[in-house]
Amino acid sequence: MEEKNRLSVIVPCKDEESCIEQFVKEVSLVCKNIPLEFVFVDDGSSDGTLREIKKLADGDGRVRYVSFSRNFGKEAALLAGLEHCTGEIAVTMDVDLQHRPQLLPEMYEAIVKEGYDCAAARRTDRKGEPAIRSWFARRFYSVMSRFSDVDLVDGSMDYRMMKRQVVDEILKLREANRFTKGIYQWVGFKTRWFEADNAERVSGTTKWSFAGLAAYSVRGIVAFSTAPLQLASVLGALFCIPTFGYIVYIVFKWAFFGEKAAGWPTLMCAVLMLGGLQLLVIGILGTYIAGIYRESKRRPVYIARECK
Ligand code: UDP
Ligand code: MG
Repeated sequence: MEEKNRLSVIVPCKDEESCIEQFVKEVSLVCKNIPLEFVFVDDGSSDGTLREIKKLADGDGRVRYVSFSRNFGKEAALLAGLEHCTGEIAVTMDVDLQHRPQLLPEMYEAIVKEGYDCAAARRTDRKGEPAIRSWFARRFYSVMSRFSDVDLVDGSMDYRMMKRQVVDEILKLREANRFTKGIYQWVGFKTRWFEADNAERVSGTTKWSFAGLAAYSVRGIVAFSTAPLQLASVLGALFCIPTFGYIVYIVFKWAFFGEKAAGWPTLMCAVLMLGGLQLLVIGILGTYIAGIYRESKRRPVYIARECK
């Protein structure tokens, strides 16, 4: 199979037995003029996902797979897919058809004919999502863009096509805490953005809970920003300057008018407030130290049980 500009379709799957066959069918249909390779990554599924993938691989030489020894998470699955794909061009997609395959030919065209290095999709709306979740998502993107090394595009998805050169550069980043959206942005390259709407999942259920998304955001911030570490200095300055002024005022009143400042409530507020802030900042420090600790162990990001 030595076609030019073969497209590797990288698909992380966790408990997705009901989606896989339809996914391959739809992608093959819209990409009938593009030489394809499918790289499924079974991320420790507990249903028949692997069986389903193997069944397809037996009858279709374009289908390959990596199967993890347990669930390592979508970020690890994306890495495994990028490591195992062999095409000149690669695209990462969700198996639930929320990343519409209809965009693939245009994205492919942008890279092969228009000379872009990447083609990426971003959502224009967040229809069908709870309002509170959308609000937090928007805040997350704006905070990330302001305080981190990368300019995250609001609504960017993990639906991205890229040239071999870009894949190779991404694979050079060996961090264990992989925040893929940030990594894509960090490596740069000429990217054409495509607008996509928020499609419903074809079947199965989402693997994301609100707490899961919150943890994901914290991982993203820790991976690409050190701004929170400066919080202690900022808060320190914020409190020290007015406090110094206040001390001068008290001493002045005592020296010239013999007045003593009334104490207990103000003292209590100050102690509790400062104590709380100190704990908060220690917590932030702890989060980063945990990050260093995890990276320093140099564990592999995933373990493959079998692959083809
Ligand atoms: N996924 C994965 N490992 C996980 C969780 C999810 O490989 O631990 C895959 C999942 O099978 C799907 C994609 O990541 O192909 C996106 O997951 P999901 O559709 O649950 O997320 P949502 O679209 O709701 O954000
Ligand atoms: Mg989905």
